[in-house]
Amino acid sequence: MSRITGFSVQTDKHTEMIDITRQVQGVVREKNVDRGICVVYVPHTTAAITINENADPDVVRDFTMEINKLVPWEDGYRHAEGNSAAHLKASMIGFSETILIEDGRLVLGTWQGIYFCEFDGPRSRKVYVKVMEG
Ligand code: ZN
Repeated sequence: MSRITGFSVQTDKHTEMIDITRQVQGVVREKNVDRGICVVYVPHTTAAITINENADPDVVRDFTMEINKLVPWEDGYRHAEGNSAAHLKASMIGFSETILIEDGRLVLGTWQGIYFCEFDGPRSRKVYVKVMEG
């Protein structure tokens, strides 16, 4: 079994979105795959991966503001760890994204970036990246 590649992300806020496009592209470059598929995955229950606009930072600000309204931090939850909201948000956004690779580059739209979403930080997190040729 091949070693899983990836990188670490240190978050410094309770809820935040960090653009990890460059790090993911770096893994694709290391693998020297010209054409294929890249899977980006987080092995956590209170963090997520998504793709969204990376041009206007207000998009990320609005995103985190609204998701915190959709799932309030306190709402009579029973989970003893006290972070049920983070678990819910992580599942809503999802734990992975699949991105095409063409000419050794991630196929992303002009305004798209890959985001690591922290919902219970600050923490040290892992992002796994699997690159498949084809
Ligand atoms: Zn928990």
